[in-house]
Amino acid sequence: MTDCSCEHPLNDSQYMQRGGLALKSCPRCSVQAGRHLFHALSSFGMRTMADGQEIVQSWCPARRSNSTPDKPAYACR
Ligand SMILES: [Zn+2]
Ligand SMILES: [Zn+2]
Repeated sequence: MTDCSCEHPLNDSQYMQRGGLALKSCPRCSVQAGRHLFHALSSFGMRTMADGQEIVQSWCPARRSNSTPDKPAYACR
């Protein structure tokens, strides 16, 4: 599960900035592609935990609805 050149786990969310945009990797897209694929952090949406804490969704919206992301994702590096 460490095919990506950055050597971080593909099924773990990675964060980076590119062109002033905050990006987060989608574990599901990344595992499928064999390298990290990033989407805009703002596109993931938030989820409220049982204790009221808001956290960012792990998977991109397209994956959560079982469709293919319409926009090309940003590749790692
Ligand atoms: Zn990577
Ligand atoms: Zn995704």
